Amino acid sequence: MRVEDILLSMRSGEIQSKEAIEAFIEGVTHGGVSRPQAAAWLAWAFARTLTTQETVHLAAAMTRSGKVMDWGPGPLLIDKHSTGGVGDKVSLVLAPLWAALGHRVPMVSGRGLGHTGGTLDKLESIPGFQVDLPEARLREILDDVGCFMAGQTDDIAPADRTLYALRNEIQAVESIPLIVGSILSKKFAEGVHKLVLDVKAGSGAFMKSPEQARQLARALVEVATGYGVDCRAFITEMNRPLGLAIGNAVEVRESIDCLKGGGPADLRACVLALADHPDAARALDDGSAYACFERLVAAHGGDLASLTDTSRLRGAGVTEHVVHASRGGWVSGLDAYDLGVAVFRLGAGRRIADDPVDHGVGIELMAQVGDRVLPDQPLMRVWHRDGHALDDALQLIERATSVSDAPVEAGPLVIDVVEPVI
Ligand code: URA
Repeated sequence: MRVEDILLSMRSGEIQSKEAIEAFIEGVTHGGVSRPQAAAWLAWAFARTLTTQETVHLAAAMTRSGKVMDWGPGPLLIDKHSTGGVGDKVSLVLAPLWAALGHRVPMVSGRGLGHTGGTLDKLESIPGFQVDLPEARLREILDDVGCFMAGQTDDIAPADRTLYALRNEIQAVESIPLIVGSILSKKFAEGVHKLVLDVKAGSGAFMKSPEQARQLARALVEVATGYGVDCRAFITEMNRPLGLAIGNAVEVRESIDCLKGGGPADLRACVLALADHPDAARALDDGSAYACFERLVAAHGGDLASLTDTSRLRGAGVTEHVVHASRGGWVSGLDAYDLGVAVFRLGAGRRIADDPVDHGVGIELMAQVGDRVLPDQPLMRVWHRDGHALDDALQLIERATSVSDAPVEAGPLVIDVVEPVI
């Protein structure tokens, strides 16, 4: 099919056939479609949106633009994807937990960008932990441990890299079908049978309202189901951070607590909801999930001693500053976006992909929404590097924190669950 005909057909608003979408993605991947032509296609798709069936074809073609993993026969292949939030360390717990429950988890994760952290940056707080291992080694780890946690390689959905960059340039990121194609193509390339999605809703999330999150969740579940992957989506609260820790090493410490059956109740609840398995709580409490985490860390070259002596995690040498409550009452708000930006400014995140991150800086909350606090009671610990951006961070923390005179109840963590319509 000629690219000019595909563009004319897009321009007239016609539903695109599987062949037309495949030809377009093939051209994007191998150079038959120029950048202006690809940008025009995206702009038409943005303006008129795509049907579910068109989005299934788009996600499938983008998946096949690169390598699709085949892990061979064996237990269920499962992964999760979170649309990104503040304090979201669920992947660090869920991958070894699922492995302990007998699943295979070929988890490909991303780095932090802007105010949301990235799983790979958190893992790299563990000295020696390699996220870029050759495929043959990942295969061995998957067979031996039941899970691996690796970075995206150039041969995973390469069409997405081109199209995502163009969407950014032409201001066409916020299109549900284009977001769905982008997210799912990278997950389908992992060769999983089942996908659990955590679509965050709130100030610290990509989707600010539960309704927007529901729309995205429905589209993701419909398209994954249409592709043949068993999928359900949880819509979870992200007006407040998840758990108490925000940063890199500090989130690894909290993940270890959760993997040993402890940690904050909201983090454990989120992990158990997404794990969706009757034995998940037992595997956290009896040490089997933590044992899998140790095996995962060792297999990726990480320093096991740093899991028990967490002063060995990367980023040592930070200074603690304690923020106190300015008045007594009930904590009514801890704004996830402002706290995420505060930690980003302290140095935990990156502005562009190649920025270095500081693994030691971060925040640990000492009270959560709904807790009663007395005047001057410690509210949070802030770890900074020689005062860098501390004043900025403290201003954001002040803006993020509200205390009310009347008791406040934190809203539910899981706002909704979106199941496939059969
Ligand atoms: N995350 C992705 O991977 N793609 C998008 O388009 C948006 C968020």
